[in-house]
Amino acid sequence: MDKHQEVTLLIPGPTPIHPAALAAMQWPMRSHMDADIFAYNDQIVADLHLLYKTGPGAFVSLLSGTGSLGMEAGFANLLEPGEKVLIISNGVFGERMIEMCERLAANVIPLRFSHAQEVDIEAVRNIAFETSPKLIAMVHGETSTGVLNPVAEIGEIAAEVGALFSVDAVTTVGMLEFDMAAWGVDYAYTGSQKCLSAPPGLAPVAFSERAMQAIAARKTKVSTWYSDALGMEAYWAVGAKGRKYHHTIPVQLHWATGEAIRVALSEGIAERSHRAHFVGEATLKALSTVGFGAFIPEKFRLPTVLAVTLPEGLDDAKVRQELRSKYFISVTGGLGATAGKIWRLGLMGENARPRYYHRLMVALAEILDAPELPKLFDEVCTVA
Ligand SMILES: *Cc1c(COP(=O)(O)O)cnc(C)c1O
Repeated sequence: MDKHQEVTLLIPGPTPIHPAALAAMQWPMRSHMDADIFAYNDQIVADLHLLYKTGPGAFVSLLSGTGSLGMEAGFANLLEPGEKVLIISNGVFGERMIEMCERLAANVIPLRFSHAQEVDIEAVRNIAFETSPKLIAMVHGETSTGVLNPVAEIGEIAAEVGALFSVDAVTTVGMLEFDMAAWGVDYAYTGSQKCLSAPPGLAPVAFSERAMQAIAARKTKVSTWYSDALGMEAYWAVGAKGRKYHHTIPVQLHWATGEAIRVALSEGIAERSHRAHFVGEATLKALSTVGFGAFIPEKFRLPTVLAVTLPEGLDDAKVRQELRSKYFISVTGGLGATAGKIWRLGLMGENARPRYYHRLMVALAEILDAPELPKLFDEVCTVA
């Protein structure tokens, strides 16, 4: 392998690392208990409140682990053994939630919709009223199919039945509008390598005040020491309550992720969302002329992971292999039920740049003998 070869990552994570995040990895080392680090963490906290739009009394931090740790930590903190959790699932990451909650010995009530199908809000309301769960959990943007799920609507139902509400924001926060307080979300998480375009390894998480109260009121200790929110709070909090050693944080990843969050906030979520929509639209328009199609109807299509159906007769594995080996472009196929049927094109963070998708058009123009592709793409896509 040539480790200096650039590969264009059009995949739904990891995304290309933002230059500001990459540069921060080179800052000289500090102790995880150094005053500089605590000051930097305080800035991350202030920025995470803005990113998630938390309400008063919320606790935000970075978990040392990937997005899946963010998912697991939420369940570990908000559920005690035997407690009811309603999990809305319409894809691979919804299924991961079910698996995690079963392992935590929660009383799992799965509500499944077929993959690539939208969530039936009335069905959620009915089962929520029937079962009165302690927690309702759902993925916002389902990466395995490219479906955007209705968070505000499910948040209303959670409020009606008095349940806590946990949302997987891995493919949305930092790129699309996310409003924890307005939507009644009690726990949300992402992974540093998706919409923020930092390296993988951290999970930015946010607990509402209500969630923290529920954790303080537990009868049993959180089963995993590492993800206990109260342990995390002892390190992250300001003043006498905080600044205590919990575990050695990955200092360089804190810097990289901290810088990436700054970049996202200063660009603005509206602008980032516009990039994702615009590059996605241009890609779909151009590819539809050679037989690709939208896998998900526009009404519930996730702007940050564009799932496209393949042209009749296209050899999925062979074409993606050629893209990777000859053109240094990485494209992901389907996952689970959609394997072999779709491609999933990432439009998160630095993914959503016309110059990267232009490269795909140039490559496919050759592979599929469709010389007009780059021009068609450029006609729609004029953002930088
Ligand atoms: C990527 C992803 C995860 C898991 O994140 P990892 O960083 O791979 O652990 C969870 N949920 C969704 C929706 C994702 O896209």
